[in-house]
Amino acid sequence: MHPDTRAVHVSAPALSGSTPLSVPLYQTSSFAFEDPAVLADSMTRPDGAYVYSRFGNPTVRAFEQALADLEGGVAALATSSGMGAINLLLHGLLRTGDHLVAQTSLYGGTYAVLRDLAARYGIETTYVSGHDADEVRAAIRPRTRLLYLETISNPTGHVSDLPALAAVARAAGVPTVVDNTFASPVHCRPISHGVDIVLHSTTKYLGGHSDVTGGVLVFADEARHRELWEHAVEFGAVADPFAAWLAIRGLHTLPLRMRRHEENAATVANWLAAHPAVSAVHWTGLADHPSHAIAGKFLSGYGAAFCFDLAGGFDAGVALSRRVRLIRLAPSLGGTSTLILHPASTSHRQLAEHELRAAGIGAGMIRIAVGIEHPDDLLADLDQALD
Ligand SMILES: *Cc1c(COP(=O)(O)O)cnc(C)c1O
Repeated sequence: MHPDTRAVHVSAPALSGSTPLSVPLYQTSSFAFEDPAVLADSMTRPDGAYVYSRFGNPTVRAFEQALADLEGGVAALATSSGMGAINLLLHGLLRTGDHLVAQTSLYGGTYAVLRDLAARYGIETTYVSGHDADEVRAAIRPRTRLLYLETISNPTGHVSDLPALAAVARAAGVPTVVDNTFASPVHCRPISHGVDIVLHSTTKYLGGHSDVTGGVLVFADEARHRELWEHAVEFGAVADPFAAWLAIRGLHTLPLRMRRHEENAATVANWLAAHPAVSAVHWTGLADHPSHAIAGKFLSGYGAAFCFDLAGGFDAGVALSRRVRLIRLAPSLGGTSTLILHPASTSHRQLAEHELRAAGIGAGMIRIAVGIEHPDDLLADLDQALD
């Protein structure tokens, strides 16, 4: 079946004689048992009876199964945030002295965790460009436990050669994890390209309405799911049933929303590229983007969050942030409304000019997360703000 159909047909837990039309919210922390032996057994495995919502919850399970289905995995673990998923994965799979290989262009929070793991536990990361299979082969050591990639990275729109790099890692016995937040399973299903674990910040496109914080890990094999489930029970950063319930509601329209996000992003990116106040547009969908060709090999869309540079530099970035009316000044992405952020005056304010340059962030760089409004209204707002 098509993703559209799969996303809509999220099944609810069975009741005797009837089935609820929508997945019910099981807002309960624990479950009652008649037989203590059943309770004891259920606490030792992810597929037993529901015991306690940190171990598993029917609403959370419905979301996990929907994601596993959309991503082509066998099972999933929903977490309290995207960072919860990243920390659960890294703390669950890595031990003191282990090593991992990661692409250079990563989500800021992920960088921070990798730096922290090195300082606390001596878990070192070797960074690679993401375009060169030989570079990954050369970086792998006896204690390498993970290859860490992102489908489309922020802020540059960099795309790694997932199939080639995952094949090198697999040959060396190293699992590959991909943060698929920017592409969503609508535009890329990394497991079908040889990836072992996919993760998302549910906060972004999956939830889709800027009203839920969550994350999820999707597994290609049952053994790793089991291992990480055991760690999740101890780690504790699991999804709340209500967050999972909201995320399921978002999933129903994911393919519809992604198509509109993508069309709007193409319209906005092309319009910006022709505007005299804009010196560069870094949307992967543009033919002159360095990752455009590689993305075309395995992505069916280029995402709708990207950066552009204002010719007027820092002051122009601040002015645009102040002048937008329909478009809102806010962090995050993946919701229905269009957001912008000027990193140099907000999220990266502490960095000196040379540090900004090293991070690939220009003084006049704007991050835009294109929503699903009518494109004419978005262009009109950008036009008056850039005027
Ligand atoms: C937002 C984001 C995260 C972190 O997710 P939270 O839900 O904010 O914890 C991780 N990776 C990517 C690519 C993101 O955009």
